[in-house]
Amino acid sequence: MRPTGKLHLGHYTGALENWVALQNEQTLPGNFVYQNYHLIADYHALTTNLETGELYQNSIDTVLDWLAAGIDPERSPMFRQSQVKAHAELFLIFSMLITTARLERNPGVKDQVRDLDIESVHYGHLGYPVLQAADILLYKGELVPIGEDQLPHVEITREITRKFNLHFSGANNTRIFPEPEPKLTKFARLTGLDGKAKMSKSLGNSILLSDAPDAVMTKMRTAVTDPAKVRRNDPGNPDICTVYHYHTKFSTAEMTMEVEAGCRSGALGCVDCKKMCAGSVSTFLTPMLERREQFAAKPELVKEILTDSEAKANKVAAATMQEVHEAMRFG
Ligand code: SF4
Repeated sequence: MRPTGKLHLGHYTGALENWVALQNEQTLPGNFVYQNYHLIADYHALTTNLETGELYQNSIDTVLDWLAAGIDPERSPMFRQSQVKAHAELFLIFSMLITTARLERNPGVKDQVRDLDIESVHYGHLGYPVLQAADILLYKGELVPIGEDQLPHVEITREITRKFNLHFSGANNTRIFPEPEPKLTKFARLTGLDGKAKMSKSLGNSILLSDAPDAVMTKMRTAVTDPAKVRRNDPGNPDICTVYHYHTKFSTAEMTMEVEAGCRSGALGCVDCKKMCAGSVSTFLTPMLERREQFAAKPELVKEILTDSEAKANKVAAATMQEVHEAMRFG
């Protein structure tokens, strides 16, 4: 995840929720299925933004939100890309294994160029899927938990893996890198309060994981509803309403059914419906808010968590690079 500051509900449903579920999956009590690594992609942040003044604080805010959401740093290290130098080294090696024509065909870069109105693409921006390949393979990642929009990037990582393994191998012809598979996140990204685009802080259509109940209420008032439901008693169509979409995620099944029936019959007005929805969102966020506050009150502890995780990541990354050096006969 790029460190763009405090996380919102879209980050939670699109990624974090899935990460916590994967972290906690066990076959028997104490027998965990996955070892997760969580990267704060601060080098990646440079591909589209050279204003680095907030970068460190944004990384800390990301860590706070991850901790609040239930990522356990003891089991799932969380670390900054810039603090594990092997990311840059493996990126350099991998950049010899892919052509610029292949990277220019990457739909992710094309979308960003269009969305951000970029005039000409920087070398590092074009190569960011190569850096992602290094991010994944330094830890010999076998599964990459992503949304569908990231599939082309995992495909590039798979291509790089095959090329590397074809040219270089370890002792007794062993493969250095596994070919990673995407693991699609179960939940679709949330639409923003404007109902148009996905939730994004820069579009001003988001509810933050750290928003207190009054902030949630204020933001919910701006949410787009069925435009045909003008007066309180007009019947509405919840299927095209952003607020109803949030109810399905954050309210109880009982309340969601009540909202659907009330909306269709016209018995429920949008103002009341939004109040109910804001209440559900805040109930959902309360335990996270409490955990976030506990960690935010101890900045030294948060720094220590980051430093410890970075030491663990560096150890794994150094072992991988040792194998890479030997396979490539650097001497
Ligand atoms: Fe949306 Fe609720 Fe209004 Fe229906 S009553 S349009 S679900 S806000």
